[in-house]
Amino acid sequence: MVFVDLHVHTIYSGDSSITPKRLVDALHTHSFLKTVAVTDHKTMEGYYHVSKLATAYEDILILPGIEVSTTHGDVVVIGTEERPPYPITPETVIEFAEERNVIAIIPHPFRTLTSLGDYARRLKPTAIEVFNPNATPEQNRMALELARELNLPQVAVSDAHSIEELGRGYTKINAAQNMDEILNAIKSGQTQPIQNLIQQ
Ligand SMILES: [Zn+2]
Repeated sequence: MVFVDLHVHTIYSGDSSITPKRLVDALHTHSFLKTVAVTDHKTMEGYYHVSKLATAYEDILILPGIEVSTTHGDVVVIGTEERPPYPITPETVIEFAEERNVIAIIPHPFRTLTSLGDYARRLKPTAIEVFNPNATPEQNRMALELARELNLPQVAVSDAHSIEELGRGYTKINAAQNMDEILNAIKSGQTQPIQNLIQQ
């Protein structure tokens, strides 16, 4: 069993204050959250820095990820250091993930105009974010309904843009702390989304 935050931004996203060092320090001191996917907007730079710092700690695992703006809304890809090619449509990004045997998650499907909204019903992503603290309770409720309707695995994330936000949401995954096992467990729905809005 492993607890994973599948959606975290670093300063390389441009809208986050989380430096690689602060992220690794926070994971080092956290009692159980030791695994995160760095999912910056459009860049792998943050992942490279964080994963390099994390090699000093045996218990920390950093997964490569990216949050891309597609023609119809945001999609998160986790498991590869490659970036999806243009043109970036939701379909090409999901296909890109499938071809590499990694995962594509629809983040906060109903949060803002940059989210996929009802277009998600046409897609076959790996999983849906059913809890994102940056979405309203109503938007999260709609996301949960969508995941149930499409019969897709459910994940919860922090979508942290500041270090205090880390751990607000995370996913309990039935896997060892190993990237391939984690990705396979998400694909087969062995996930339990957990909301944690209590300050640590
Ligand atoms: Zn995000």
